Amino acid sequence: MGKLLFVNLSTGELREEAPDESLYRDFIGGYGAGARILYSRQKGGVDPLGPENMFGLVTGPLTGTPATFGCRFVAVAKSPLTGGWGDANAGGHFGPNLKFAGYDGVFFTGISERPVYFFIDNGKAELREAAHLWGKGNYETDDMLQAEHGKTARVVSIGPAGENLSLVACIITHRGAAAGRSGLGAVMGSKKLKAVVARGDMKVPIADIETANRLRKEHIDELRAGPFLVDLHKYGTAGHADLSAHSGDTPVKNWGGIGVLDLPDVSGLNKDVILANVESRTGCWRCPVACRGRLKEGTGEHRYPAGTFRPEYETLAAFGAMCLNSNAEVIAVANHICNSYGLDTISTGTIIAFAMECYEHGLITMADTDGIELTWGNHSAMIAMTEKIARREGFGAVLADGVKVAAGRIGKGAEEYAVHIGGQELGLHDPKFDFPAFAGKPVAARYQMDATPGRHTAGFGPTQFPDHVVNAAGLCMHSDLVVANPNKYIEGFMSAVTGWDRPMDELLKAGERIATMRHVFTLRESDNPLERKVHPRIIGRPPQKEGPLAGVSADIEAQVYWNLGALDWDRVTAKPSKRKLLELGLDDVAQELWP
Ligand code: SF4
Repeated sequence: MGKLLFVNLSTGELREEAPDESLYRDFIGGYGAGARILYSRQKGGVDPLGPENMFGLVTGPLTGTPATFGCRFVAVAKSPLTGGWGDANAGGHFGPNLKFAGYDGVFFTGISERPVYFFIDNGKAELREAAHLWGKGNYETDDMLQAEHGKTARVVSIGPAGENLSLVACIITHRGAAAGRSGLGAVMGSKKLKAVVARGDMKVPIADIETANRLRKEHIDELRAGPFLVDLHKYGTAGHADLSAHSGDTPVKNWGGIGVLDLPDVSGLNKDVILANVESRTGCWRCPVACRGRLKEGTGEHRYPAGTFRPEYETLAAFGAMCLNSNAEVIAVANHICNSYGLDTISTGTIIAFAMECYEHGLITMADTDGIELTWGNHSAMIAMTEKIARREGFGAVLADGVKVAAGRIGKGAEEYAVHIGGQELGLHDPKFDFPAFAGKPVAARYQMDATPGRHTAGFGPTQFPDHVVNAAGLCMHSDLVVANPNKYIEGFMSAVTGWDRPMDELLKAGERIATMRHVFTLRESDNPLERKVHPRIIGRPPQKEGPLAGVSADIEAQVYWNLGALDWDRVTAKPSKRKLLELGLDDVAQELWP
């Protein structure tokens, strides 16, 4: 759309900008454009929950276009959880509708005196009172805003966890799609920004609509001919939670257990057991896969309402094998609570697993936990503690800012059980396991080295460049899992939509630029990822003695060493070389890092 909005919540000032074409050429969009803007316009060292931290919601050039999977937006800000670069990606319908409302992205600074929401309506925008929404959960907030602005108005919002500044608070859209990581819900909460609503019917300009539509048809035909579309549509990402709990893919018992021994019965996590509770399918905007499921009303001791989202793999792992629980209904309840209150399920499940281990070792007792018996696999305890974390209530207040902070509050050596990197709980794929989709990617190194540490959705070293292209373009990451030659479509859609010749090597160079910009943002915050402590359980030191990962350690030093060389980043300071920065056209960064 060629336009960005900048909003100062302290003064109420709104400013529209048409960025230089180079922003889109060099950084594509999404978190690429976000990282460039935040690095340029915000100084290092700002308080992530203070007025100077800029918070953005940014689409990609393919968002809201015929490009298959073109539905994503990214939230960006300095992360209050890690202190470095923060981003979190979500699908649903908000991203396309932000463009239909006229903008590629919107950025907020300042802090509002009162709770507000931001309403963007077909090229006009205004801040509105949100006192009536403050304290409400995400489902209710979505309902109330759609009741006021119509069903075509699409909402991103925070729940009470973001309002309470929980550092693991997330942002929710589409009644259950989460921009989960980096604690960015707390940034919205700190700004008293309850929600952003986008409504519009503007057309995204497409340079060559015939080619874009032809590519879409070809892409969908190819997807339909292969097994992935059917499988992903049917089971979503929940298709392998039971297998992963036993294969070594999913970390078990707070990263310290062995699935086949500690959780022998995983039948409750089987894809068909979970599927039996699905009442309908749903997907992100114009997605041909529609991998998400909505559940029938729960029937167990702990209930969830009809229509809540089927938990994704990561949630099944976090509240499942990590807590020694194989009851998918209980996980669906925890998922529902997290979506309503606005908590990242990866972090929250990991926090509960950490608390269970502290309880097992006597570091905390029922006198500390408000009478909750935090034994492994205790369903009622998991549900009750998730609610307490969301409300920052009782022992929940100790846990509400992630395992690193909680370990400091508990003391008594609790950090031994706090599995995180740089303050963020990890994505739930064990880097010691050889997961086929991660073939050739240095999994342990990316957990340590990503600008938002602990992330599993990007590689490290040159293998991350294609991931950045996909994310920044506004595509779902499933787009490159399911066809033989995803580059053909990315290149083709980028050229057809923008009208620029965008060969893959040029896009990959932009991917490298994005990797570098996210990384130097984090470096400027005095966070050298080479100095981050990696919990020994993550890399198998010592290795497990039994089970599928017996004897396996991840050679993280070799992965990091090789990839730093491949990136031309210094092996002590992690600074990209001056030569590399100049090659990427990042002259201002070169000047700052190498004065
Ligand atoms: S594959 Fe699933 S997550 Fe990805 S765009 Fe489609 S519905 Fe959304």
